[in-house]
Amino acid sequence: MKTTIQPLISHLSTLSCSKCGTSYSPFEKQTVSACCQLPLLAGYAPKVMPEKEALLTREGTMWRYLELLPVLDKENIVSLGEGYTPILELKNLARKYELQNLLLKDEGQNPTGSFKARGLSMAISKAKEHGVEGCIIPTAGNAGVAMAAYCAKAGMRATVVMPRHTPKAFRGECYWYGAEVVLVDGLINDCAAKVKELNSKGELLDVSTLKEPYRLEGKKTMGYEIAEQGSWQLPDVILYPAGGGTGLIGIWKAFKEMKQIGWLPENIKLPRMVAVQAENCRPLVETFYGRQANAQNYVGKPTIANGLAVPRPLGEQLMLQTLQESGGTAISITEQDMITGLKELGTNEGLFVAPEGAAVWMAARKLLDTGFIQYDEEILLLNTGSGQKYMENLSGYQPDSIGS
Ligand SMILES: *Cc1c(COP(=O)(O)O)cnc(C)c1O
Ligand SMILES: [Zn+2]
Repeated sequence: MKTTIQPLISHLSTLSCSKCGTSYSPFEKQTVSACCQLPLLAGYAPKVMPEKEALLTREGTMWRYLELLPVLDKENIVSLGEGYTPILELKNLARKYELQNLLLKDEGQNPTGSFKARGLSMAISKAKEHGVEGCIIPTAGNAGVAMAAYCAKAGMRATVVMPRHTPKAFRGECYWYGAEVVLVDGLINDCAAKVKELNSKGELLDVSTLKEPYRLEGKKTMGYEIAEQGSWQLPDVILYPAGGGTGLIGIWKAFKEMKQIGWLPENIKLPRMVAVQAENCRPLVETFYGRQANAQNYVGKPTIANGLAVPRPLGEQLMLQTLQESGGTAISITEQDMITGLKELGTNEGLFVAPEGAAVWMAARKLLDTGFIQYDEEILLLNTGSGQKYMENLSGYQPDSIGS
C-alpha cells in the first residue's frame, strides 16, 4: 500500500538520482535509483526557514536541524543522543608542529562509539516511519553496532553481517543489543553478497551505505555542526577517513544546503575536502590519480582501520565530485603510520582515537610536508570513532606486559 504522509516540520521535498537527476517520491520507501542503480539524494524546499539564531535553544543532538532532516513525524525519531559532538583544539600538537589552528571533531563521543550513530539513527527512524519490521547490514564493524543499537531501541529485528576478522568487541556489542550476527570470510563487499543471499526475499530493509537515502542525511549533520560550532566560519581544510564516503559526501552536501537556505553567505569559501584512506585499501586514491578508471574491480586488503576496508564504494563518483568541487585531494596512510598517529594523539592530547582518526592526523602531517596544507591554515580533523573496540587490532603494537 502506498501512503502519502505530509511533512510536518521537515521540508523534505524530493529524492533524486545522483547521476541523472530523475526524481522519486520521498514519501515512499526507496532504495537506490531505479534508473541508474545509484544513490538517491534528498532535497528540501524550505518555505520559511528558521533564523539560525533559533538553533540556540534547541537540544544538543543532530536533531536540532530538524527542518533539513527527512523524518516527517517527530514521533518516529529513534535517538540515543547522537551528534553535537565537541570540536577540540589540539593545542599541544599545534605547538609541536608550529600550526596556528588545529581542530578535531570527536565523533568517538557518539552513542556506540562512532559517527555511524548519526547515519543509523536517521536510517532507522525513517525505517520506522515506513513501517519496516527488520533491517540487515553488511559492515566493517561500527555501522553494524550502531544499527543493532537503534533497531533495539525501535523494536526492530536486526541482522549484522561482518568480516570474520573484525575485532570481537564489535560482534560482542551487537549480541548485547539482541542482533543476529553473521560472520563472513572476506571484506565488506563479500558481506554485501551474503546480505543479498540472506535477504533474497527482501523481508528486511538493507541499510548498506548509500543503498537507502537516509544514512547520508544523518551524516551530513556533521557539516551543519562544523558551521554552527565555528560560529558560521568554516575551516580551510577538512580531513576525513573515507570508506563508503557518506561522511565526506554528506558534509559537502550540508555546506551547499546551508548556502541555499542562507545560513552561509553565497560567496563563502568552502573548505578543501581531503579523503584519507589506508594504504591497504585505497580505491579512491587509485581512481583520483588516474591509475584506474574506477574502483569496480579494485581488490583491497584488511587494515587495522576496519572502517576504511571498502574496496568498491557505491558512492565513488560522489566522493570524487566532492574532492574536485572543493579543490581537495585523496591520500593513503600505512598501518605503521596509523600506529604512530594513535600514540601521538594519545600522549599529546589524551585522545584514544580509532585508527581511522589516527590516519587523518598522519594525512595532515604528510600534506603539511608536501605544501598542500599551509601551517597557518585552520585544519579540521574528523576523528570518526573511539579506539576502544579496536584493542584487538592494536595488541600486537603494545608491550606484552600491558596486555589487552
Ligand atoms: C565507517 C567508518 C569510516 C568510513 O566512513 P564512510 O562514511 O563509510 O566513509 C571511518 N571511520 C570509522 C571509525 C568508521 O566506522
Ligand atoms: Zn539515474
